[in-house]
Amino acid sequence: MASEATATKPAARSDEAPIIQMRKVDKFYGEFHVLRNIDLSVARGERIVICGPSGSGKSTLIRCLNQLEEHQSGEIVVDGTTVHAGLRGIEDVRREIGMVFQSFNLFPHLTALENCTLAPMKVRGIPRAEAEAAARVMLERVHIPEQAMKFPIQLSGGQQQRVAIARSLCMNPKIMLFDEPTSALDPEMVSEVLDVMVELAESGMTMLVVTHEMGFARKVADRVIFMDAGEIVEVAPPEEFFSAPKNERTRKFLGQIL
Ligand code: ADP
Ligand code: MG
Repeated sequence: MASEATATKPAARSDEAPIIQMRKVDKFYGEFHVLRNIDLSVARGERIVICGPSGSGKSTLIRCLNQLEEHQSGEIVVDGTTVHAGLRGIEDVRREIGMVFQSFNLFPHLTALENCTLAPMKVRGIPRAEAEAAARVMLERVHIPEQAMKFPIQLSGGQQQRVAIARSLCMNPKIMLFDEPTSALDPEMVSEVLDVMVELAESGMTMLVVTHEMGFARKVADRVIFMDAGEIVEVAPPEEFFSAPKNERTRKFLGQIL
């Protein structure tokens, strides 16, 4: 189980420049103000959990980092590159950022192994044998090496999500974004995915994880962020976040989910 607060947390390296810096970021969908004055700085190796009600802007916030969504004002700097609408070279930034979604998003016509080798071969130009060897290492790391030759439809949801994580890791990302990675899973499969994410966190990966799995947050997060109505309402280390939330909206939300 990934729910006990026992994992050691490697300290985030706060002495370096932040790997992610958002300053006064605002985003609109047409007239709708979806992100409001977002300030967020993430240190290399830091693990951030983002929670908040449905529609509060969590997905939009993380999608702005790789510009799957454009912001209209403010500044977003990812590993030294200021990202914005129309940035030439955004592909270089995206390559450094792995993303895992609620709905696995595997290529259905490719095996687990082929899902993992496609981008390294096509995007990074890595030869097949090398890409396959690396992919097998990653499938091992997510504890499903024996599923390499299966197609997504032959795998459980938990296995598919672990292939999706392995696939992202095959690109050697500097940052991993997770958007409710366990929300679509049957309950008995949640922990096998969270366990893999805990191991990844312990390896020192910079992670931003949108989730309501508060056991995971307690165990690995350096900071927990609560969003509501497009704002970051509260940011605190998990001990403080859960035991002494300062904001009334945070307290109400925690009351509903815990
Ligand atoms: P969360 O991930 O916290 O549930 P989202 O970031 O997905 O929230 O969405 C925040 C708000 O923006 C919601 O009210 C949603 O309906 C709206 N929204 C999301 N995507 C779009 C879009 N492409 N066009 C218009 N509104 C959107
Ligand atoms: Mg969302």
